[in-house]
Amino acid sequence: MQFDILTLFPDMFTGPLTESILRRAQQAGRITIHLHNIRDYATDRHRTADDTPYGGGAGMVMKAVPLAAAIRAVTANPVPDAPVPQVILLSPDGELFTQAMAEELAQQRRLVLVCGHYEGIDERIRTKLIHREISIGNYVLTGGELAAMVLVDAVARLVPGVLDAASITEESHSDGLLEYPHYTRPAVWEEQPVPPVLLSGHHGEVAAWRRRQRLRRTLERRPDLLAHTAAQGLLTPADLAFLADLGWTPD
Ligand code: SAM
Repeated sequence: MQFDILTLFPDMFTGPLTESILRRAQQAGRITIHLHNIRDYATDRHRTADDTPYGGGAGMVMKAVPLAAAIRAVTANPVPDAPVPQVILLSPDGELFTQAMAEELAQQRRLVLVCGHYEGIDERIRTKLIHREISIGNYVLTGGELAAMVLVDAVARLVPGVLDAASITEESHSDGLLEYPHYTRPAVWEEQPVPPVLLSGHHGEVAAWRRRQRLRRTLERRPDLLAHTAAQGLLTPADLAFLADLGWTPD
């Protein structure tokens, strides 16, 4: 999968995209990440990419002309199976990013991500060249760069071959439940023993215990998720019985 990121600050991406799993995924050729400096598409002597807003007010606005040139130049280079890549603007007023959306985006062959900065980008780019707008949460960042890194990280780990398939099943938000707790050596730490079932070697009991932990944890921390999970038919009769014992029933 190919990610093209259009930004005024490409140096911000060093580190998050060049370490750990994302580094290995790139080395293994599972994903490629291209950074494009929008300023390179500005044609004036000072490579101006932002200007004051029409109508007045605080802050600067990213200019349409260099940004349009950048988007058009990047998308003019198609990759096989993705002749028209999705162009996504990271924006606090976009659709809220979720695990389901990450799974959907991981099916794409290529994503073009546009990072706004300052007060944002000229509205005419949004109407003409942006296919989708995504927010990573109900708060305002200084720029879309951190949001793009979050999106790339969440999507890339779902691209086949980047992680073991087993490590992305039963994760928080993957099937409407939060994940079960994890433990590793030592078996007792500061007087807290690991739950004995995990030392039993009995796979069936471990799986049942983990499922109950997922249900309990979701009920305690995110009861809002449970009704939705039940409505989608993702809870078994045994799950519902366990939740009923904890005092929860679907509406
Ligand atoms: N004036 C804009 C508003 O009130 O909606 C906020 C602009 S913000 C300071 C600058 C840029 O950061 C945005 O254009 C966007 O690319 C990015 N950004 C800020 N918050 C974001 C969020 N929650 N999710 C995704 N991108 C965000």
